[in-house]
Amino acid sequence: MNEEGVNMSKEVVSKILSDPGSLDRRSFLKLGAAGAGSMLLLPANASAAPKVKSSARIVIAGAGAAGLTAAAQLMQRLEGAQITLVDARKEHFYQPGFTLVAGGIKPASYVVSATKDYVPAGVELIEEAVAEIDPEGKKLVTASGKPLPYDYLIVATGLKLDYAAIEGMDVEQIGHNGLGSIYHSPEKAAATWQAMSQFADTGGVGVFLRPGTEMKCAGAPLKYTFITDDYLRRRGNRGKAELIYNANNKVLFSVPIVSEKVRMLFGERDVKMNYERILTALDLGKKIATFKTAEGPVELGYDFINVIPPMRAADAVRNSPLPWQEGNWAADGWIEVNKHNLRHARFDNVFAVGDVAGVPKGKTAASVKWQVPVAIDHLVAQIEGKESQAHYGGYTSCPLITRLGQAMLIEFDYKDNLTPSFPGIIAPLEELWISWVMKTMALKPTYISMLRGRA
Ligand SMILES: Cc1cc2nc3c(=O)[nH]c(=O)nc-3n(C[C@H](O)[C@H](O)[C@H](O)COP(=O)(O)OP(=O)(O)OC[C@H]3O[C@@H](n4cnc5c(N)ncnc54)[C@H](O)[C@@H]3O)c2cc1C
Repeated sequence: MNEEGVNMSKEVVSKILSDPGSLDRRSFLKLGAAGAGSMLLLPANASAAPKVKSSARIVIAGAGAAGLTAAAQLMQRLEGAQITLVDARKEHFYQPGFTLVAGGIKPASYVVSATKDYVPAGVELIEEAVAEIDPEGKKLVTASGKPLPYDYLIVATGLKLDYAAIEGMDVEQIGHNGLGSIYHSPEKAAATWQAMSQFADTGGVGVFLRPGTEMKCAGAPLKYTFITDDYLRRRGNRGKAELIYNANNKVLFSVPIVSEKVRMLFGERDVKMNYERILTALDLGKKIATFKTAEGPVELGYDFINVIPPMRAADAVRNSPLPWQEGNWAADGWIEVNKHNLRHARFDNVFAVGDVAGVPKGKTAASVKWQVPVAIDHLVAQIEGKESQAHYGGYTSCPLITRLGQAMLIEFDYKDNLTPSFPGIIAPLEELWISWVMKTMALKPTYISMLRGRA
């Protein structure tokens, strides 16, 4: 963020902290535009430079957060290029809002809009899934069999929620009989709210978990545990409930200092913590969850459970030559890119941005915000026959809600360094109202601006 942005943000944030009533719509937008942490930071504005003339065919697979942002930025940088987005989904989901829908804070409609509303003029949208990727032949094939040759490819297909990998799971049952899952869709996030709210009225055993794979927004399972705890307290039923959080490995969060902070908060709020437990099966009728542990399978009965499934690259990506060929990310199909410029390691005209990129941190919209301008800068430099110095250091962020009305704004990079946007103003490990405001109000307008290439 530039100095002016920092000063303006500091000014707005200080004003809000000293006089919360002053936080009108204009201030929110100013805050967001100026760089209110999370994904709200402005990139270096490349659109001021003259456009590069090119007739290159650039195909973007996936028109979600990363694909749309890439299309908008390419249009700002290039003149004459043929840019094509390919995605079968007509709806656009603002996924950072799913937690708010499942927390009873926003309606499902808050997170749904139309993909075509963000497709820049001059970009073609093909409303089909990509079925095959052939980087040697420099072409994609769509689900209807249509070949799409390209000079450059940007893969932005996000990830696949692999509910089928959990034995006994039935997504149609989300919202019934204590079964929740905030990740599935806006409708199921709303259904999860109904199930959780019912649980908050009665108490019982609440089971929370995260999968054993890489996942998007690793803070979301924690946030939802905190939100459930808060509802139980507000309704006077916390004494009737036992909350159990099951981590997949030895920590609660990948950044050690954040993990420790969450451990302390869970301890204070009487959330029981289990480690190295991975959900493998559900008996939805009997309400029993089975976890894989080092000591063998362990069963946990529940009255409410928030199921978060394993996450993998889309099948078209996994079945292509693009994933890592060995190492931790090979099995789930994450794409083998250079973690600092998002260029493919073996196909230099291919980039991967967003959740599908096989990089050590990220899988947030905040990462998209910082990855895309870097990838685009390298792609445009390649067209010009130049070298780009743009560098992505792994910035990502998690506005970690810890109760209704409070959150910790956690920002960090590949090296697990905390990278607060407002040092001295917003402490990353403090539960603050202003961080809650950013998550619940300022984030969406800036996310939408990002899709339009304006933030
Ligand atoms: C519950 C939840 C909470 C979150 N909270 C936050 C948060 O607080 N802050 C934050 O920054 N991020 C958060 N995120 C993460 C954020 O939403 C994602 O990281 C971001 O959307 C990634 O962008 P993407 O473009 O890679 O994937 P997506 O936005 O998911 O888009 C992928 C697109 O690819 C398409 N696609 C898939 N397969 C194919 C195919 N074969 N062919 C063509 N298209 C295909 C899909 O239809 C989709 O449109 C959260 C996510 C969830 C689910």
